[in-house]
Amino acid sequence: MPERFVIHVDMDAFFASVELKRRPELRGKPVIVGGAGDPAKRDVVSAASYEARRYGVTSGMPLRTAYRLCPGAVFLPVDFEKYEEVSGEFMDILYAFTPLVESFGLDEAFIGVGEVGEVGEVGVEKGTDFFEKALNMARDIKKRVNEELGLTCSVGIAPNKLLSKLASEMKKPDGLFVIREEDIESTLKDLPVRRLWGVGPRTEKRLNYLGINTVGELASVPRLHLERNFGTVFGRTLYEHSRGIDESPVVPFHEPESISREVTFDEDTSDTYLLKGILYELTKEVVGRLRQAGYRSRTVTIKVRYSNFETITRSRTLPELTDSMNDIWTCALGLFKKVEFPRDVRLVGVKVSGLQGGKEGKRGK
Ligand SMILES: [Mg+2]
Repeated sequence: MPERFVIHVDMDAFFASVELKRRPELRGKPVIVGGAGDPAKRDVVSAASYEARRYGVTSGMPLRTAYRLCPGAVFLPVDFEKYEEVSGEFMDILYAFTPLVESFGLDEAFIGVGEVGEVGEVGVEKGTDFFEKALNMARDIKKRVNEELGLTCSVGIAPNKLLSKLASEMKKPDGLFVIREEDIESTLKDLPVRRLWGVGPRTEKRLNYLGINTVGELASVPRLHLERNFGTVFGRTLYEHSRGIDESPVVPFHEPESISREVTFDEDTSDTYLLKGILYELTKEVVGRLRQAGYRSRTVTIKVRYSNFETITRSRTLPELTDSMNDIWTCALGLFKKVEFPRDVRLVGVKVSGLQGGKEGKRGK
């Protein structure tokens, strides 16, 4: 097997950091991004700055709970459009180094170094020190992300994806951590099982119940025992992951940030009945494409351009991911009803973003 390394790049507290960058006066303060930014509403935390995390605030927690833990925090609304824009700039930096980039959500990516085979790497010279190459690339990526985006990221380098993701978490924020073949066992052994990819709260609970708390303990369990308790496929995954084994390839794949459709009219119109009908057709197309690609979306945006070229957009983030025409149309229509029509309209459009899922290049988390 050819020598290869995987670099995992993970932006630090991404949403919160993007907000802090455009609101430098909030630096050093606990900042919590979630929903409409109102802790009285039933939204959840999308991101928390490191200062807020110190109070025990974590992503996915209800905003109310976060408020209870950290009443002095600054609460901000989610601005997906902005995060997608910065995410695009982040991915562009990575693509400047190599085409072997597999994006994973808005703020993470895997990069293959030295992979020869299916995908192949162009211009690899014989005798290339791939470790040296990966290390230099990791340092340069951190430098460029910092200089060009004004943000920090944490980077892990390891022989495979599983370990590279673990490595990037080791020294957050602004970290660079390497797991080499010979360090795998000693690095994994004392980590709680929860740190392994694929081990969520439920699996953790069952493992703990079976007396397995650390990755080292998990690695000492016979495979058959794991397969009996967790099924053949997942049992085997646990067995392999506990030993740092992961042969999944880095699949160059760029998730679409959004799916949208818009039309410009031959003749400007202020007929809201007509506009509504067109918006409905556009929404149907967008939802069709969303479903076909196997995505679900979080945010719906409509766009209206008036005859004087003034353009407005209105967005709403849904409480949960959806690919339902009913949900998405209800949302788009609600936004449309709030738009005023002081003059004729030359364009309408609809967009779904905050996409998750997808049929290609995905792995369960
Ligand atoms: Mg991140």
